[in-house]
Amino acid sequence: MHPKLIKLETTFNKSVLAKINNAMLDYYGIELWMKRDDLLHPVISGNKWRKLKYSLDHALSLDVDTVISMGGAYSNHLHALAYAGNAIGLKTIGLIRGEQPETLTPTLMDMKNWGMKLKFVSRSEYRTLRQYQGSFDLPGLKPNQYWLPEGGAQALALKGLAELIAEIEVPHDVVCVSCGTGATLAGIIDAVPEDISVVGFAAFKNAGFLTDDITRLLSRNCNNWRINLDYHFGGFAKTTTELISFINEFELNTSIPLEPVYTGKMMYGLYDLLHRQYFKRGQRIIAVHTGGLQGKRK
Ligand SMILES: *Cc1c(COP(=O)(O)O)cnc(C)c1O
Repeated sequence: MHPKLIKLETTFNKSVLAKINNAMLDYYGIELWMKRDDLLHPVISGNKWRKLKYSLDHALSLDVDTVISMGGAYSNHLHALAYAGNAIGLKTIGLIRGEQPETLTPTLMDMKNWGMKLKFVSRSEYRTLRQYQGSFDLPGLKPNQYWLPEGGAQALALKGLAELIAEIEVPHDVVCVSCGTGATLAGIIDAVPEDISVVGFAAFKNAGFLTDDITRLLSRNCNNWRINLDYHFGGFAKTTTELISFINEFELNTSIPLEPVYTGKMMYGLYDLLHRQYFKRGQRIIAVHTGGLQGKRK
């Protein structure tokens, strides 16, 4: 790995495994652990570092000086990219979905302060950008520039997720994670042995396309995974009072903060599946906390 990345990684914290204890888990005979990737770094959102690390290493090895990527006005991916780019001396350009808001969101403000050049693109343009999935596929890309697809979802992202799985030191049967692009889920599926099942929870409505996207990223044929499409609460970044009170109660009981866009929905879904006895008595579950708490700022 490039020395600049090694140096940046020395500023990271340990992503601990926290055991969740409560009467409901006892009742169903389930052991639940949370992999606290939200603790990895005070700024860079957990799974975003896992996904970015080897792509940034690739960019540094190629001697490009600029990384371009895409995302929304609250994008944890662009936020992490802007911070990391600034820390390792790579310029960054963010293609942001939709019109420039009158006042920048706190996320966009940070990105700008870390030197990211923000370019706002129409929603239809944004959709077109999604089709460019390789590091050099963006039309008009200059030789000094490197393209990262939405959410950093390229094959190199999977390599960082294998490190997350390797860190889990307790025996387990199931790994649960939230899905946006599905790259994090793909990395986990790729890294676990086939006798462990992987359960994803889509943060988007109508996310049926994820199955194909994930299958494309996987390096081999796997059948030990599924995605739940039912816990989107009305769509991406939409919430309900039920979800918010679940999150508040969870935080009160565990002292683990959740955000309502990804991990909150996953945990709600996981608890709901517990009640539906989807998991078998005696199973040990790892729920991955993918971070994203920066997006919780008002
Ligand atoms: C981006 C993000 C996800 C989704 O990751 P994908 O690899 O795009 O599926 C999940 N949780 C948090 C907190 C995120 O920021």
